[in-house]
Amino acid sequence: MLPYFRKSENNERGADEYHGSGGPLNVADLRSPNPFVKVFLEAARQAGLPANGDFNGASQEGAGPYQVTQKNGERCSSASAYIGPARSRSNLAVITGARATRVLFEGTRAIGVAYRGPGGDTEVRAAKEVVLSAGALQSPQLLLLSGVGPGPMLQRFGIPVVQDTPGVGRNLQDHPDFVFAYRSQSRDLFGISVSAAWYMLKAWWEYSRRRRGMLTTNFAEAGAFAKTDPSLELPDVQLHFVIAIMDDHGRRLHWGYGYSCHVCLLRPKSVGHVRLKSADPFDAPLIDPNFLSDPADLEGMLRGFKLTRRVMDSPAFDPYRLSEMFTTGARSDDEIRSILRARADNVYHPVGTCRMGSDPIAVVDAELRVRGLERLRVVDASIMPTLVAGNTNAPTIMIAEKAADLIKASARL
Ligand SMILES: Cc1cc2nc3c(=O)[nH]c(=O)nc-3n(C[C@H](O)[C@H](O)[C@H](O)COP(=O)(O)OP(=O)(O)OC[C@H]3O[C@@H](n4cnc5c(N)ncnc54)[C@H](O)[C@@H]3O)c2cc1C
Repeated sequence: MLPYFRKSENNERGADEYHGSGGPLNVADLRSPNPFVKVFLEAARQAGLPANGDFNGASQEGAGPYQVTQKNGERCSSASAYIGPARSRSNLAVITGARATRVLFEGTRAIGVAYRGPGGDTEVRAAKEVVLSAGALQSPQLLLLSGVGPGPMLQRFGIPVVQDTPGVGRNLQDHPDFVFAYRSQSRDLFGISVSAAWYMLKAWWEYSRRRRGMLTTNFAEAGAFAKTDPSLELPDVQLHFVIAIMDDHGRRLHWGYGYSCHVCLLRPKSVGHVRLKSADPFDAPLIDPNFLSDPADLEGMLRGFKLTRRVMDSPAFDPYRLSEMFTTGARSDDEIRSILRARADNVYHPVGTCRMGSDPIAVVDAELRVRGLERLRVVDASIMPTLVAGNTNAPTIMIAEKAADLIKASARL
């Protein structure tokens, strides 16, 4: 896979054995790192974590700043990296504001897609093949709506069965995550106050003139990959240090200033699923990550919680820490377990619901074709057989680069 990671990447630090340059996806160091990055890294050092300037290099272990997918201080999304530069091609049409509702089949051959868009219900025909890239939560939903999935479930919703594929929607994996949050008096952090409006205005001015300043932040500016037990071969938890108070994914706002730190388990054993709520493509699917159903995950999170607390309690944070917001009082292992059960959540890395493989539960083969069907591939995070031990965006783009080569090779045949 390394050649495809390198192919996708334009790392502003330059190419090396692990990184590419000249690829569409721009990877950069933050242009205006927040002063709290240094505080976090010093705290990590005090807690005994080694320093690491490149998690995506020879070794993952240690604490360091995150590189970001940005170009000129702006998010370099997969749309701006890949679709923008290809917009003028005569063989590309982009239809926005449209929802694919079903893959169309003739027998077991995919022949097109039905969608509802600005012009109402429409069908498009595929000259060669159909590629689903609706992500780990919605590619399985789209397959199920199209009659590809566990036969009994499809029949229950009155969906004609094209193929009984029991694995569609199974094997959902994500990183269970817990967030520590602290109140602080420092105005270097993001927060809500009367004076924040003035800071934002200044930040906006700097961003519009120089593409620098606070507004170029990715919020999770630094982090760590750590072993909760020194005898482990590889890190088992990841930390994301955030320069604001994070509560309920940023939906619950708090007056004042603060900082947070996520800790997630990198190789969870618990497995969930995505199912249909109804046969209506506009209904969201039912998603159950089944977090902490395997007792080993709760114990892994417990060790990760203690390690992270050690970092956040380090002297480097003493001048800035006013109070801990969510975990006060949880000291014994049982108290920590109970707070983990109450507050652990996901960190946006769902994968695995159209898993690649060759066993009966696998959905796609090694060329990402839906097994048993013709001219239909799935290309997104859903095909990962197991969750990667890190963030999932670059690996998904790597999968797409590999898929492009597979598709071109089969078109040549
Ligand atoms: C809040 C958040 C923060 C994240 N932060 C990071 C991070 O810092 N680093 C990192 O590496 N990863 C991060 N991730 C994860 C990363 O974004 C995903 O792993 C990656 O985007 C997965 O790519 P995908 O192509 O599988 O799915 P997606 O990126 O979800 O793409 C699927 C697309 O299909 C569209 N779609 C779905 N159903 C239909 C339909 N029926 N018709 C038409 N279109 C449809 C969706 O609108 C979407 O645009 C984050 C995710 C979230 C949600």
